[in-house]
Amino acid sequence: MRVDQIFENARAAGTMPVSFEMFPPKGELTLERAREVAGGFAELAPDFVSVTYSAGGSGNSAATAKIAQMISDELGLTSVAHLTCISLTPETLGEKIAEFRSAGIENVLALRGDLPDGMSEAEADGIAFPYAKDLVPALVDAGFCVGGAAYPEGHLTCDDLVTSVKHLKQKQDAGASFLVTQLFFDNECFYRFRELADAAGITVPITAGIMPFTSKQQVTRMVFTCAASLPAPVIKILARYEDDPASLRAAGIEYACRQLEDLAAHGVDGLHVYTMNRADVAAAAMSALRG
Ligand code: FAD
Repeated sequence: MRVDQIFENARAAGTMPVSFEMFPPKGELTLERAREVAGGFAELAPDFVSVTYSAGGSGNSAATAKIAQMISDELGLTSVAHLTCISLTPETLGEKIAEFRSAGIENVLALRGDLPDGMSEAEADGIAFPYAKDLVPALVDAGFCVGGAAYPEGHLTCDDLVTSVKHLKQKQDAGASFLVTQLFFDNECFYRFRELADAAGITVPITAGIMPFTSKQQVTRMVFTCAASLPAPVIKILARYEDDPASLRAAGIEYACRQLEDLAAHGVDGLHVYTMNRADVAAAAMSALRG
């Protein structure tokens, strides 16, 4: 099913879609491992599952379409294939569109991807698809339901939140029909961003992305790669359980569950869980939301 239809149905029913993100497992058995991961998710009946594309510079992009197809065809779940444009040319985009179509993909999350090492934002202007918004029209024209990424605290490379929201509006104007946010640890950031997005005329659903954290290293990485700020309660959990990884993990998952409950109580458009391919993390999130 198209994701914009899922949001439409949920709005009519007064509910909110809950979705999961997974990444293609590394190694030769990618598809088999992905089948195990997604099989665990299927039991939790998420509204859709999105599959990353070469995330974190992993180069792991060849399996994205195959995994998204497996999720839809074998598990009967709606899938979203991510696609980054920073390295695409018009020709390779055409090939990707053909690949996604033949895999039966309906939904694509249009992303720029991180700049290759050494490339500045200014240099990115010289390439075929410098921003995610430039990828959206071709995907819409090809018949896909297209989403984009949103940044409640602004993108790492963008100076201020107002400009970041202005860039976000360009994705909607280009044809994106849903938005998924970067992870955040402080819901107040999301609520402030939501007000700015409303004021800027963003009307497509914005689903809030939450990552249950399970280690201090993971949080540290996210702070620097995602520009997510750390509220005092998270810092206290990290300090309290510094020498007790199991308790830190439990407290991190619990913190995310409370975040999700609070967002649900505030009537957000949808909730997206960064599962890190862990069915237990996804299950905890789902049980906080659906009991
Ligand atoms: P853009 O929207 O193009 O923004 C990139 C930068 O350019 C921002 O600073 C923005 O403010 C600025 N900008 C945008 N438009 C303009 C303009 N018109 N003029 C000047 N500046 C502009 N990465 C992966 O490699 N694979 C994945 O699967 C993946 N999945 C993701 C899923 C989500 C939900 C999110 C939030 C991120 C994901 N990422 C992924 C990371 C993403 O690729 C990076 O954050 C990347 O640096 C920006 O991608 P974008 O699509 O938001 O880019």
